[in-house]
Amino acid sequence: MSEYFSNIKASAVTIATGMSITLKHFFNAIHRKGDAGIDDPDYFRQVDGLCTLQYPREAVPVPVNSRYRLYNDIEDCIGCGQCERACPVTCIAIETIKVVHEDLAVCGKTSGGQQKKFWVPVFDIDVAKCMTCGICVSVCPTECLVHTPVSDFSEFDRQNMIYHFGNLSRLEAEAKKRKVAEQQAQAAKEKQAAAAKAAENSGQ
Ligand code: SF4
Ligand code: SF4
Repeated sequence: MSEYFSNIKASAVTIATGMSITLKHFFNAIHRKGDAGIDDPDYFRQVDGLCTLQYPREAVPVPVNSRYRLYNDIEDCIGCGQCERACPVTCIAIETIKVVHEDLAVCGKTSGGQQKKFWVPVFDIDVAKCMTCGICVSVCPTECLVHTPVSDFSEFDRQNMIYHFGNLSRLEAEAKKRKVAEQQAQAAKEKQAAAAKAAENSGQ
């Protein structure tokens, strides 16, 4: 019988303790008028009186060095494909086209001075699949692939979650591919002619 009453007492004390904490926050929140202080650098240290934020007018601040949506500064991308190969969930898709010799100057260099040898007509990141692990960023040799602090990017259409960073339009890419094919055909022809000439000379 005594255990029965001690259980009731313990329950009452537990409920009273929980309610006192709830009521303390409730009354502190009443005294806190206006914004929840999201511009305050000590935001995360505020424990009293925090209540529901008026999202999207208010939002929890993003911590420094946070890893959210990816961004590729395509001007610095050399099309090496390391990020694509490293991604564990294959959410990066890249297509490259070799830059022909006479286009090297047009294609240009990275901000670090490295000559770019590939056009990158397709550089797509499916951020709906990305788990922001950061592996792609860590392997990028030119540091053009970075995480941004953008964490809120919901979309109605799934397709809008695929971000395109490519540096050529479809027509431009086709023209570049034709140029490479022409040069390869020309080189093969010259090689064939040289081989035929060598065979002719050796037969004399
Ligand atoms: S952050 Fe991780 S999951 Fe996202 S694209 Fe990079 S490697 Fe893939
Ligand atoms: S690793 Fe960096 S440089 Fe290489 S393709 Fe990816 S983003 Fe471009």
